[in-house]
Amino acid sequence: MSEQAKAATIEEKQYLLRFNADTKSHLHVLNAEVCLTDCPDKICTIFCPAEVYKWEEIRMHVGYEGCHECGSCRIGCPHQNIKWEYPKGGHGIVFRLG
Ligand code: SF4
Ligand code: SF4
Repeated sequence: MSEQAKAATIEEKQYLLRFNADTKSHLHVLNAEVCLTDCPDKICTIFCPAEVYKWEEIRMHVGYEGCHECGSCRIGCPHQNIKWEYPKGGHGIVFRLG
C-alpha cells in the first residue's frame, strides 16, 4: 500500500483536533446506581470514539474534556442514563482543517 493510500491512525486524526474545555461538564451520568447495578456491559466505554467514559471499580469517570461531540451517547446508553448537551459557546472541540 502506498504512503498516500495508507489510512490515518486515530492518533494522526486526533492531531487535527484541539479542545477548549469548559470548567463544567456538558455530559452527565444521571444515576450512578444504574451504571453500577443494571449495566454489566458498560457499553459507553466501548462506543464512545473519544474514550470519554472509563469505569473505575465502582463508578464511571467522565473525561468530558476530550468529547468529540458526536452525540452517540445520547442514543447509545441502553438506560438513557446520559444527559448530553453541546458545550457552552466557545468551548469544546475545534477542528483544524489543514
Ligand atoms: S451505558 Fe449508560 S448505564 Fe451503562 S454504564 Fe454507560 S452510562 Fe451507565
Ligand atoms: S458525544 Fe460522542 S465523543 Fe462525546 S462523550 Fe458522547 S459518545 Fe463520546
